[in-house]
Amino acid sequence: MKQILLMIAVVALVGCGDNTPLGRINKKERERKEQRKEFEERLEFEFEAFPSPPPKPKPPPKLTDCPDCKREVSTRAKTCVHCGAPL
Ligand SMILES: [Zn+2]
Repeated sequence: MKQILLMIAVVALVGCGDNTPLGRINKKERERKEQRKEFEERLEFEFEAFPSPPPKPKPPPKLTDCPDCKREVSTRAKTCVHCGAPL
C-alpha cells in the first residue's frame, strides 16, 4: 500500500513537466526533486502518525451457568466441568 502511494506520487510529480521549455528543464528538475522529497517525507510522517489499528480481540467463549453448582461452563460441554452434572 505504501509503495503504491509513493509510486503514484512520483509519477504525478515527474509527469507534470512534459511541456517545459528546454532552457528551464534544469531548474524545473531541481524543483521537482525537492517537491518529491518533501512529498515523500510528508507521506512517511502521515504513515507514522496513523499506525495500523491493533487486531480485534477474539470474542470470549460462550459460557453458561451450571444448573447444579452455578459456575461457568462452556455451552458446548455436555456435562459440567466442575461438578459433572449433565447440562
Ligand atoms: Zn456444575
